[in-house]
Amino acid sequence: MLLLVPDSILLSVGQKNYSVSRRQQDAVGYLLRPDRVFDGETMHEGWVVRVKDDKIEAAGPANSVSATGATVVDLKGTTLMPGLIEGHSHLLLHPYNETPWDDQVLKEARSLRVARATVHAKKTLEAGFTTVRDLGTEGADYDDVGLKQAINKGIIPGPRMMIVTRALIATGSYAPKGFSPDIDVPQGAEEADGHDALIQAVRRQIGKGADAIKIYADYRWGLMAESRPTYTLDEIKLIVETARSSGRGVVAHASTAEGMRRAILGGCETVEHGDAGTPDIFALMKQHGTALCPTLAAGDAISQYRGWKKGQDPEPERLKQKRDIFKQALAAGVTICAGGDVGVFSHGDNARELLLMVDYGMKPIDVMRSVTSINADVFKLTDRGRIRPGLLADLVAVQGDPTKTIADVQRVQMVMKGGVFSKR
Ligand SMILES: [Zn+2]
Repeated sequence: MLLLVPDSILLSVGQKNYSVSRRQQDAVGYLLRPDRVFDGETMHEGWVVRVKDDKIEAAGPANSVSATGATVVDLKGTTLMPGLIEGHSHLLLHPYNETPWDDQVLKEARSLRVARATVHAKKTLEAGFTTVRDLGTEGADYDDVGLKQAINKGIIPGPRMMIVTRALIATGSYAPKGFSPDIDVPQGAEEADGHDALIQAVRRQIGKGADAIKIYADYRWGLMAESRPTYTLDEIKLIVETARSSGRGVVAHASTAEGMRRAILGGCETVEHGDAGTPDIFALMKQHGTALCPTLAAGDAISQYRGWKKGQDPEPERLKQKRDIFKQALAAGVTICAGGDVGVFSHGDNARELLLMVDYGMKPIDVMRSVTSINADVFKLTDRGRIRPGLLADLVAVQGDPTKTIADVQRVQMVMKGGVFSKR
């Protein structure tokens, strides 16, 4: 019976496409020869990596890895790394200074949004990000499911996608808002509350393709301008229990201390943003093993859209606070994911987050660990995120050494996904 499941058929179609493209490249394997290899944890000068089919076959000092039968690819001057993992993207959004979020949700055709998303996917891959955790379609229903399928079938180039589909919000708490209370405006995520409706919504989203569930644990709610917690602790526990039954985790948007506290105690695996975190909250995150995805680049971009001239004007208060809480999280030993909330700013500029993580106080090598092995561990992607025999041959080579100069991560020379060159 298993063979009749549509996914299995898609998979075999995908493999056929894949073997065709391999034959076109006329090689059974590659020996990649950079100056050095960052394996996701540490740097190794003079290492080479051998790729066979879609996997890493060997990695080690040049004299320990045979080149026999492989096409040698000279990557002089580069650092070879695992394909980067974007921790927080929205491929179905584009920068808010081009079109405000409300207008994207209410005025753009879904077909227009998907057409844009295919371009976003290509740009993301070419920037060296071979995986994205895409955290919500923001009003585009289940369009991330088809986008992911189109990439997996080889119809369009793009990163491997971990998706959450519509995301969950407490009724009345999300956006677009500011309309007459007499009309119902379509929302950027799915409203669901209480025992039965939440269980159904979680199961429905999983059934339609969600790899994880995203909730909004707080939001700027009603006529008040400030964020307030939405779901109760019991509701969050219920969502987590329902998702976990299927082996899936829960991601929480939370920017208030109380929203964060409920997300942590409720069993969410990551907290997104965390703007009003406190030393106590970060200690709680450390205790429960909850990771923080700080999305520094989103705040930086939005401040600039609001008129802040970076490099000329003094830094806005909001960003100074973000620097403080990021330092508090680091001091508490919280696991830090790398995820910028891409979509708020341009897809393909994902590395902006990595540069800001260094600017806000992290060591470059720790940032490179976050965007490779740590993101893979936190998102439970056990087949990638490191350069190690048997893992997927998702690889990126950049000019220079980003563990010393983080901006080198933007100097992408080569991208390989599943043993196939996406950029060379
Ligand atoms: Zn987001």
